[in-house]
Amino acid sequence: MLDATIKAQLKAYLERLQRPIELVASLDDSAKGQELRGLLTDIAELSDKVALRTNGQHALRPSFGVAEPGEAPRIHFAGIPMGHEFTSLVLALLQTGGHPPKVDAEVIEQIKALPGKFEFETFISLSCHNCPDVVQALNLMAVLNPGVTSTMIDGALFQGLVDERKIMAVPTVFLNGESFGQGRMTIEEIIAKLDTGAVARAAEEIGNKDAFDVLVVGGGPAGAAAAVYAARKGIRTGVLAERFGGQVMDTLGIENFISVKETEGPKLVAALEQHVKQYEVDVMNLQRATKLVPGELIEVQLENGATLKSKTVILSTGARWREMNVPGEAEYKAKGVCFCPHCDGPLFKGKRVAVIGGGNSGVEAAIDLAGIVSHVTLLEFADTLRADAVLQKKLHSLPNVTVIKSAQTTEVIGDGQKVTGIRYKDRVGGTEQVVELEGIFVQIGLLPNTDWLKGTVELSRHGEVIIDAKGQTSIPGVFAAGDCTTVPYKQIIIAMGAGATASLSAFDHLIRA
Ligand code: FAD
Repeated sequence: MLDATIKAQLKAYLERLQRPIELVASLDDSAKGQELRGLLTDIAELSDKVALRTNGQHALRPSFGVAEPGEAPRIHFAGIPMGHEFTSLVLALLQTGGHPPKVDAEVIEQIKALPGKFEFETFISLSCHNCPDVVQALNLMAVLNPGVTSTMIDGALFQGLVDERKIMAVPTVFLNGESFGQGRMTIEEIIAKLDTGAVARAAEEIGNKDAFDVLVVGGGPAGAAAAVYAARKGIRTGVLAERFGGQVMDTLGIENFISVKETEGPKLVAALEQHVKQYEVDVMNLQRATKLVPGELIEVQLENGATLKSKTVILSTGARWREMNVPGEAEYKAKGVCFCPHCDGPLFKGKRVAVIGGGNSGVEAAIDLAGIVSHVTLLEFADTLRADAVLQKKLHSLPNVTVIKSAQTTEVIGDGQKVTGIRYKDRVGGTEQVVELEGIFVQIGLLPNTDWLKGTVELSRHGEVIIDAKGQTSIPGVFAAGDCTTVPYKQIIIAMGAGATASLSAFDHLIRA
């Protein structure tokens, strides 16, 4: 089953096992059952610390568990964890065998202290990039806490279960049979959802903090850059973030972060975090700001009830793309469904794409993409395009663009791996049409995360924080940066530059106060 190179690599990894482990297989006579038997036999032959037994009693077959000898397995793989899940398998073997995980000691203690029974099931596909993080987090929790079990289920192999649970996207996690979450989740996010006492503890800890010189609200590229610039001035700096990394956590390939030819979102976020933590920055992750109260000391109120105070505040809460909310959209995100033409356009060189939306951003995207791809179909819900006339003129001059108005997108079609087409309803004739293509760019609006600021700083009619060239908002001492602001063009490198500007302006404000 495993080729010689992988066997050699796995053998080297298994040398790190500190104690024996057992693979407990629940097989069947299917081809996949035979394939799984082959994989488990190969693994067992690579280390004398790994034993295989085939009398497992798991309800899902073929599957196997990983356990310490004599114990019931708490980690299960239903299906064959190859593809992106192979790393999850290797980590499950090593961590069950006593190899220490690369997680903060505080997080480990929190997991060990979780009371109760938690049976997790994670539906994945072997080509999903976000799934292994979730599987690995839950598997580690199962290793550390005897009350936790974690079962990875390959949706392609257990289609009946996928239909029964109405699963539309992976990863989808169930806890004790109830829906728990969907999409990429970090171990800290999972723990925060389970450990209800943690909210009160965090509120108390945050409420007791002294006032900051600079408090950055938002931990995306803009917030991270602002924090580094502030901390380098030697002033008391805090970062409050609902999810450190922001949109970059959801980004697969990044090819326009200048000086880095190509990278992946989570990799860039790890680098951002490392850089921020290099300095004395108080990072308060998984915390949501709900209100800004201007004053000599500016207050930021949090969802957990705590209040932070600071001499200056930098708002960098970013934005989110408005989605179509049609079947297939979530499933094929980053597999053909994209939101950023500057970012992902080059990936569709020579291919056919659709742009959804006939406003300025949709028409600009179509013009931009027409220079790269073989054909663009622009779908607009209304019976006219809303983009500026000059853009429309340019669009209509392009030979490889088709504009379809009065078109209501109804479904993203795919082959299980990637997008193959889009279905829309002709709102005039009432008929359903399908366009065959490889990519879909959704351009129906970017929503700034500024609802919590309404009634305080001045916002544009699109809800963006209005800033001047120095990042100053309408309130003295409050600055803003990145996608949540009126800054033109929403990109990582632009957000970082804006974060630096806002931070230097905040410092300037402090020394003049
Ligand atoms: P964000 O990244 O949105 O970060 C906002 C931060 O604020 C997060 O930490 C969030 O949790 C936090 N936050 C929000 N509300 C609150 C609150 N109330 N309280 C506390 N914290 C809060 N750009 C490129 O340059 N290249 C690319 O290849 C690229 N690809 C992309 C792919 C995708 C799928 C997406 C969605 C975007 C992509 N972008 C790309 C755009 C880029 O990610 C953004 O321009 C950039 O992340 C903006 O940074 P930001 O710091 O302003 O905001």
